[in-house]
Formats: sequence, C-alpha cells, structure tokens
Amino acid sequence: MTDAEALRALMEADRWIDRVIAQRDHLPESEELANLEGQLRIEVVAIRDAESAVAPMRATYEEVAARADRIQRRRRELETALAASTSGARDLAAMQHELESISAQGAEADEEALELLESIEERDSFVERLRRDIKPKLARREELRSTIEQLRSSLDEEVASLRVARDERARDVPENLRIRYQRAMDRVGTSGAAQIVTGRCDGCRIALAPLDLDRAKNQDEDSFMDCPSCGRILVP
Ligand SMILES: [Zn+2]
Repeated sequence: MTDAEALRALMEADRWIDRVIAQRDHLPESEELANLEGQLRIEVVAIRDAESAVAPMRATYEEVAARADRIQRRRRELETALAASTSGARDLAAMQHELESISAQGAEADEEALELLESIEERDSFVERLRRDIKPKLARREELRSTIEQLRSSLDEEVASLRVARDERARDVPENLRIRYQRAMDRVGTSGAAQIVTGRCDGCRIALAPLDLDRAKNQDEDSFMDCPSCGRILVP
C-alpha cells in the first residue's frame, strides 16, 4: 500500500465517521420532537391559564349559590309564618312586603348562579377539549423520545465500530504523516486529509491558486503539500 493509498483510506474512514455523527446529531425525529415540545409548552400554558381563569368563577358561584340558599330558606320561613299567622294586619303586611322583596332577590340570585354555572361549564369543556387535543401529542412525544434513543444508540455503536476500523487504517500511515494528519484534523475537524476536485480542496471547498495547483500536480509520490486554506494534507 502506498502512503497516498493509506492516507486516502484513513481520510475516507474519518469522513464516514463524520457523516454518521452528523446523522446522529440531525435526526429528523429530533427536529420533530423539538417542534412538538415547543407546541406542547404553549398548549400547557393555555390549559393552565384556562384552569386558573375558572377558579375565581367557581368561588363566586359558591358565594352566589349560598346566598340563593339563604334567601330560599328565609322565603320558606316567611311563607310558613304567613300561612299560620294569627298576627295583626300590620305585621302581616310587613311580612308580605318582605316576602315580595326577598322573592325578587331570590330570583336575581338564581339567575346569577345559573349564568355563572353556564360560564363555568363552557370553560370546563374548553379545558377538557384542550386536554383531549394534547393527548395524542404527548403520546407522539414519548414515541419520538424512544425512537431517538434507539437510533442514537445504534448510531453510537456504529461510530464505535467505525473508530476501531479507522484506527486500524491509521496504523498503515507512516508516523510522520499520521502526526501531520492528526494535527490538521484536530484543527479543522472531519479529516486531516483532502483531495483536489476540479481545482478545489474538497475539505474546505476553497479553490487553489494556479501556482498551488501546479505544485500539487508535480509533487513527488511520497511528499504531500497541505491545503493552503485549511491545512489538510492534499492527497492525489
Ligand atoms: Zn482545504
């Protein structure tokens, strides 16, 4: 195996690892999950808001309903008293007057309670609908989380075995070149070598100056120049 072949094999192994890592870090499922979690955050806030809006309405309803009860009790007392009354005409008239006024108050309280109850029911069913709508999204979130976990761990396994193969290939590269390669890779990532494709370094995609292109073409078989832009070893 020539040095160029060994370098190329190492470069390809590193590029492959890089592709798998990119795949692991940019899963379409991860993107979907991020979007879904954004939506869920908004919907959870909407549910909480709707619930907290209904709490004071419920408290008001309790008060009005208690008032309506008190009025109802008083009305029954008055009606009983009037029915059994042996009081004088003036007392009867006063009781009659209170009964009329209290009946009007009772009707008002009943109406108010009913209106509140209707509003509460409306809000409750709104909250219920929000909760129902959110359920399939929560299920989808769980599904995505477990899919992502599975995909990630299988891609991690793949990367681990590719690294073993890569290290084997690295052993075929002479030490001085391996050190140059590793330095370039540590600095710019992906791989420490690149090739010239249609006048450009395919590592950084920057075009080489005509003079550099010429130099690269006329190199000795076992000497390699670095890309003037990214510093990767240029392999023919
Ligand atoms: Zn380059």
